[in-house]
Amino acid sequence: MQAPGVQTALSGGPPIRSAPTLFTLSNRVALVTGGHRSIGLEIALALAEAGAIVYCLDLPAEPDSEWRTIQRYVAELPADQDKKGRLEYISADVTDQKTMWSVAEKLTEKEGRIDICFANAGIYAVDDCLEYPAEDFRKMFDVNTLGAMVTAQAAAKQMVRLGTPGSIIMTGSISASITNPTLRSMAYNASKAAVLQMTRSMACELAAKHIRVNSISPGYINTEMTRVSFLSKPGLGERLSAQNPMGRFGRPDELRGVALFLASDASTFCTGSDIIIDGGQCAW
Ligand code: NDP
Repeated sequence: MQAPGVQTALSGGPPIRSAPTLFTLSNRVALVTGGHRSIGLEIALALAEAGAIVYCLDLPAEPDSEWRTIQRYVAELPADQDKKGRLEYISADVTDQKTMWSVAEKLTEKEGRIDICFANAGIYAVDDCLEYPAEDFRKMFDVNTLGAMVTAQAAAKQMVRLGTPGSIIMTGSISASITNPTLRSMAYNASKAAVLQMTRSMACELAAKHIRVNSISPGYINTEMTRVSFLSKPGLGERLSAQNPMGRFGRPDELRGVALFLASDASTFCTGSDIIIDGGQCAW
């Protein structure tokens, strides 16, 4: 073991940094889609607390009062050597490739860089697999798969243009790899499986350009999405909770650690990976 600041003898890599500084995001710029609420906003807050300037992108024309409250909270955090996290808001639709490319270009011009991209916006719906309407299936893939691709593209193009390294994180799902018992969510599951494979493909193509691409796969997390789809339905929340050994839904803040790991220099040798955070559901 070596002290912080000592050159690693084996890897010839940069000086080892102390554990807390590995996770610092001071001076980094991030784009987070679906950043108006739930998982996206929680991750945006975590990145900003670690020092990043974070652009939250979502559909509403203006952010609501809860988002503004969190923006103010970040603004009042103490600065780290004059470097301060910040939250900004952009209204856009992740399915609009031209707009997304332009959003990333403009924010990069304004901030001088983009380091982190969290392609997180997503939708959920259930229907019988034999009756699934083609239009709804297309919409699922439009937002969850095409939207993630376009978001990653938009950020990566700017990283390549500036010749800077970067970290792209896609929100997959355990439903990308398993079928959740009793839920008729064929289209959602397929759209998320595509996100995982897209992550691996982009990771391999972009590694030479020093851009890492990874995905996170949450299990059931208590958010607006799951409140509408599951938790508001009598008994369903309990039945789904029983599908993991911990017997509960996760909280959005329980994804902070993995997001900080993947966004920061703590994960410089990690690309093409999918990290599962599911209370053990996939282990059962
Ligand atoms: P929420 O529905 O609470 O938040 C999703 C956000 O994405 C919303 O603000 C929504 O905006 C936004 N959004 C939807 N469509 C678009 C679009 N076309 N362009 C821009 N923004 C859009 O969901 P969660 O926070 O729960 O989910 C976040 C991600 O995590 C999703 O990809 C989801 O599939 C994934 N996930 C969630 C799990 C869970 O248990 N919650 C488990 C596994 C994965 P608006 O409300 O205006 O439509």
